[in-house]
Amino acid sequence: MSAPSDRMDAETPPAPDLDPADWEAFSLEAHRALDLMLDHLRGLRTQQVWRQAPADVQARFQAPLPRQGQDFGTLIDTFATSILPYGSGNTHPLFMGWVQGAGTPVGMVAEMLAAGLNANCGGRNHIALDVERQITLWLAEIFGFPQDASGVFVTGTSMANLVAALVARADALGEKIRSQGLCATGRQLTGYASQEAHGCVDKAFDLAGIGAAFLRRLPVDAEGAIRIEALRDAIARDRAEGFMPAMVIGTAGTVNTGAFDAFDVLADLCADEDLWFHIDGAFGALCALSPTLRHLVKGMERADSIALDFHKWLHVPYDAGFFLCRDPQAHQRAFGSSGAYLARAPRGLAAGEIWPCDLGPDLSRSFRALKTWFTFQAFGAEKLGATIAATCTIAKHLADLIEASPDFELRAPVKLNIVCFGARGFDTDTLNRAIVMDLHEQGIAAPSLTILDGRPVIRAAILNHRTRASDMDVFIAAAAESAARLRGAR
Ligand SMILES: *Cc1c(COP(=O)(O)O)cnc(C)c1O
Repeated sequence: MSAPSDRMDAETPPAPDLDPADWEAFSLEAHRALDLMLDHLRGLRTQQVWRQAPADVQARFQAPLPRQGQDFGTLIDTFATSILPYGSGNTHPLFMGWVQGAGTPVGMVAEMLAAGLNANCGGRNHIALDVERQITLWLAEIFGFPQDASGVFVTGTSMANLVAALVARADALGEKIRSQGLCATGRQLTGYASQEAHGCVDKAFDLAGIGAAFLRRLPVDAEGAIRIEALRDAIARDRAEGFMPAMVIGTAGTVNTGAFDAFDVLADLCADEDLWFHIDGAFGALCALSPTLRHLVKGMERADSIALDFHKWLHVPYDAGFFLCRDPQAHQRAFGSSGAYLARAPRGLAAGEIWPCDLGPDLSRSFRALKTWFTFQAFGAEKLGATIAATCTIAKHLADLIEASPDFELRAPVKLNIVCFGARGFDTDTLNRAIVMDLHEQGIAAPSLTILDGRPVIRAAILNHRTRASDMDVFIAAAAESAARLRGAR
């Protein structure tokens, strides 16, 4: 006699599930998708850096909700024709815009493996959390932090800076701030960063309820580092006026020029003043991997916390930001979670003392540690450091080309991997803007634009491990051609 559920299976149509009906056929298509991406990455040099998606392609993404499913192979074809050619370009060797990572084939495959595993890394007792812990241990080793330092993956440095503001807030005002809110304390916190610190630090103060106006932006010296006397004065003034100074945010590698604050001096000051010392090391922190660049991050080992991105100079596929904290208790005080459904068991899948949901705002989270682990394992820290150093050498080559060029001039000293330049002559603001847009539309190179001393300048941030010195010759020749054509057109 069959069980009632067997009878039900036999009498009713199969319940829908989302696995392939034909695994063999699916496997062929899946391999085709993999080969499509590998061919794309191999052939990047023959592609345009970027192209505007035509209106008819964009219109394909205003379709009504599909009521019925489509053939998987057809969908891969649609991806190949309607999405793949119109990416943001940051994989390409001549992409130099903003500060973006290029990805690697290793990272791509690792991301696929993570998706297959589909681990929820908010907590519980499974190996993905050991992998994440391994990354924290490696960072502690890289930055000279204690081995019990705590860390958590987040989307990016914007989020890691917010986590830092929340940890510093709880450290200054006590854990009760989480239940009572800032008003109950009657104190107004203040924080300090340079004028060149990233805009996401203001946003972190805004989101943490401290208020962006209470992030004091201080002037920088000729090297782009925060001026310490100005910082001391600002702290003294705030104390005299009844504010509560809580944190200093140093930057390792500013977005505009790649400048570093003097971390030893900031660490001394924070110790004297009893302030939380956080470093936004989004890309520059990883200079610690290169023997030739390591001197730039001296003193970073004294920070209370560091925010950084693996998706920039380490080329882990987006997204992979990280927050590292010297004092694990201070970190947990800001985020420790309760809730019956999150209770810890002594054994089994719900075991484990500290879960990542105790270290940041997220509960459900992806397995970002896997692609990062693959990246470190596949290449080794030395090679990763060497690719970072190589981009700085290429930036120097670009600076030399600009200085030798009749058309262009440097607009900031080149200290790292970022080159800011503009057309020579008077009244070039509009021209600089136009050159950047023109190069994008030609698909030859993708620098970006920034404002230095109130004026628009062309900015090339060399991060890509695929970029060669000879690409800079192509870039400057194209920029000169563009400048001549645009000047002629005026
Ligand atoms: C890129 C960057 C950020 C923002 O990081 P995301 O990963 O984009 O959120 C913050 N600070 C600096 C110095 C950066 O370069």
